[in-house]
Amino acid sequence: MIAMLHDMVDMESPSGDKQALERLTQYMANRFTGIGAAVEFLQSNAGGHLRASWGSGSEQALILCHLDTVWPAGELARRPFRIEDGRAYGPGVYDMKGGTVQAFFALKAIIELNTRPESKIVFLCNTDEESGSMSSRELIEQEARRSRFVLVPEPASGPAGAVKLTRKGWGIYHLTVTGRSAHAGGDPKKGISAVTELAHQILKLQALTNDSTGTTVNVGVIAGGTVVNVVPDKAEARIDLRAKSIEALQKTQQEILGLAPVTQGAILKVSGQINRPPLEATEKNMRLYRRAKQIAAGLGIELPGTHVGGVSDGNFTSAVGVATLDGIGAVGEGAHAVHEYLELKAMAPRAALVAHLLAE
Ligand SMILES: [Zn+2]
Repeated sequence: MIAMLHDMVDMESPSGDKQALERLTQYMANRFTGIGAAVEFLQSNAGGHLRASWGSGSEQALILCHLDTVWPAGELARRPFRIEDGRAYGPGVYDMKGGTVQAFFALKAIIELNTRPESKIVFLCNTDEESGSMSSRELIEQEARRSRFVLVPEPASGPAGAVKLTRKGWGIYHLTVTGRSAHAGGDPKKGISAVTELAHQILKLQALTNDSTGTTVNVGVIAGGTVVNVVPDKAEARIDLRAKSIEALQKTQQEILGLAPVTQGAILKVSGQINRPPLEATEKNMRLYRRAKQIAAGLGIELPGTHVGGVSDGNFTSAVGVATLDGIGAVGEGAHAVHEYLELKAMAPRAALVAHLLAE
């Protein structure tokens, strides 16, 4: 498992880097073929997705992994793969190359032990999750609809390895403000400051955050103006919205899209949309979780559940109504952070858990 993880980390895979992603996809295809999979490359402009399958029949289980990471090419030189005090380090070890290795070995185990069920198992690897799954979403939803359940070996949460019972939904928006430029010294009254207007809007946007419902709005990027002595006629902001339910997501989206100017003469334009629906604790998801928890107990591991704001492709599969268990992958810490690591001692037990779920 460590050797495969090392291989995968050594193949850097930033979202959007076609050549790098194709190399890793090819590597995975070889590994899958090595354990008897029928492999299919699904082309897209992002570097291709990969679908491996075992068995036939109408019933199907789906394992869903993303091969891309948030790390740019060259990050590996700064943080090469290494093992220290029982932990593996390197770009993508935790999110989510570790979980991918664990799921691969789960499959390998049930194939070698001859406990693979009659029904079909599909292992879908996409390469654009970190950039929003724009070219793989349809594929994921299609595959999920054919499946009885979906396992998403995304990183677990915290040292106890909690799975993610809910994830918030996500919306991304762009606000542009148009005012009127003027000489800041000579004719300030003739200007309409887009920057001042944006300042009003930022406060309105931030006030949409509601601690009691868990809805959050973050104005993450702003820009505006040209030089110090001109009343600025342009300003813009990029906005991140998270909410626990689709209703809360839609309601707050309406408020963002419906922003009205405070300054007379200023013009607002808001674009954007919901990127992912929330992953909710549906009855189907909870039933799958409870079964996984029982199996885990039999293996001597705890499997707590938790609630997070970060999204994954599990948001899509749950939203189409298919039982989804997300965060069943690597135990460690530091997704999208330079201190990212994975606990080696958790790899085999977590793989065993996935193997039992698939064998069932
Ligand atoms: Zn991930």
